[in-house]
Amino acid sequence: MKKPILFLLLALGLFGLVGCNSSSNQNSTKANSNQESLESPNQEEVKKIVYEIDPTKPIIALTFDDGPNTTTTMRVLDKCEEYGVVASFFVIGNNINENSAEAIKRAYALGCEIDNHSKTHGYLNKMTEDEVKAEIQFTNDKVKELIGIEPKFFRPPYIATSSIMYDSIDMPFICGIGSNDWDAKVSVEDRAGKILDQIKDGSIILLHDSEGNLKTVQALDILIPELKKQGYQFATVSELFEAKGVAIDPEDSMLYSIVG
Ligand SMILES: [Zn+2]
Repeated sequence: MKKPILFLLLALGLFGLVGCNSSSNQNSTKANSNQESLESPNQEEVKKIVYEIDPTKPIIALTFDDGPNTTTTMRVLDKCEEYGVVASFFVIGNNINENSAEAIKRAYALGCEIDNHSKTHGYLNKMTEDEVKAEIQFTNDKVKELIGIEPKFFRPPYIATSSIMYDSIDMPFICGIGSNDWDAKVSVEDRAGKILDQIKDGSIILLHDSEGNLKTVQALDILIPELKKQGYQFATVSELFEAKGVAIDPEDSMLYSIVG
């Protein structure tokens, strides 16, 4: 039997006066040792999410598309903190501005992953190689500017793909199991329930943190506790690949919804 490997992940975030104090005193993460006093407003806040992943037990990756923004993305991050789980955010380059950049920085400091969902959210499958490459590079550069590293994974807008895309994008393509949570008519209960119906070990969950999509934020109050109850561990997409022993191969032509 394969010896369990424990991944200990430590995310340290240094925050000044901006952005991320909305739930700073909600230390719901078991291992979160942030006991820092809020008495001194000038004191830099250090946030830590510490968690272990046992690859012999079920693992899933929670992912969100179409951010960043200062409303829904921040509310999703509040939920991540509240429940002590990490997520991966597939961001649209054109949505990154001075204000929404704070959501990216906060997510990364919490231990979340920032991935690529193109620049314009257009149909990349109808674009030329140069256009496709420009879409990817723009968002990679923007993310690197903010957190110092480039995204490792790509989710095609509308899950529309082409051979040109596979040939010119050097990142694994990620899909996932979803619940049509981009449709305002889908109830909070269905957003969680349809995912719970499909979930299994190695699944990537595809939700949306687009502006105004607050039903999905509410659905997390059903989804995350239920998944925890069922024994699922939450990982970033990178950690899911690592835990499942699946190499990140820039050359492959897969569209991953389940890893391993
Ligand atoms: Zn999208």
